[in-house]
Amino acid sequence: MRLGVDAALVDGRIVPGDVEIADGHVVGYGLASPDGRGLAAPGFIDLQVNGFAGIDFFEADRDGYRRAGEALLGTGVTAYLPTFITAPEERLVAALREVPAENEGARILGAHLEGPFLSPTRLGAHPTAAQRDPDGALLERLLAAGPVRLVTLAPELPGAHDLIRTLLRREIAVSFGHSDATADEANAGFDLGVHTVTHLFNAMRPFHHRDPGIAGAALARDDVVVQVILDGVHLAPETATVVWRAAKGRVALVTDTTTTPGGRTADGVLTGSTVTMIEAVRNLHALGASLEEAVLAASEIPARVIGEPTAGRLGVGLPADVVVLTDELEVERVLVDGADRLP
Ligand code: ZN
Repeated sequence: MRLGVDAALVDGRIVPGDVEIADGHVVGYGLASPDGRGLAAPGFIDLQVNGFAGIDFFEADRDGYRRAGEALLGTGVTAYLPTFITAPEERLVAALREVPAENEGARILGAHLEGPFLSPTRLGAHPTAAQRDPDGALLERLLAAGPVRLVTLAPELPGAHDLIRTLLRREIAVSFGHSDATADEANAGFDLGVHTVTHLFNAMRPFHHRDPGIAGAALARDDVVVQVILDGVHLAPETATVVWRAAKGRVALVTDTTTTPGGRTADGVLTGSTVTMIEAVRNLHALGASLEEAVLAASEIPARVIGEPTAGRLGVGLPADVVVLTDELEVERVLVDGADRLP
């Protein structure tokens, strides 16, 4: 099957021509396409989705996951990590057990545990009573409950380094966030082999010129991917511009979408966003990123964070998880495993 596009985004380059798909995989690109329209890009990957389409993953059953997964496809997301914030152990275990191995909408690549091993001073909207200091036995029980793929924790907490080593040994990605780490504390954590931070600047020790904190450390290191919520609310436009200029090529867009109305608690604390991934891509492009760079920030770079080598890329032999974008960066068509998935 030919997609009928006039270009494809392959390894960060726009290659003119059509794309051919067979048996769920991309088998060719750069093919003659006299009447082609649109750009075939790798499907987007969202590392942080608390809920979608009115479905909170803490409460979701199989049907809820199906409906949320179908709705995510409409925003260009073909794979994601359902994300669970700090909560009592029973609630986390119950939620992790419900994460389906197979899903009918966007692929589930595993769960993101955002907590409970977070700084008590940087919890944001996470419930204080459920915060825990690093506890290896608790971590084991959580890992046994479901397919944990990414854990956000605060590296400065006592015992955090042991947890980091345990997770990395099991090839579970670690991200630093909800953290009051100084730059030294953050760097000590990064040096263990951690290469990313969760929603840069949000729920973190603030950047100060003589106390750059974890945010400054992350921006200063070329080996750290900074995840950002680019909704125009979580980061001021100037901040987002500075982040892009400092970390071009290692910015991963996340939506952190929540079902909380307006993405805020009753007293105005940000809980998450209501931005969609395609909107975040457009926002990054508007900041000055090229189209190629903006799409990479939603595909290959988040895939790299969780060590998923075949996801987030379009290329011969790879699964055909593809989003076709119009010139206006609207999602026109979405394929998973080579099958059209939009109504
Ligand atoms: Zn958070």
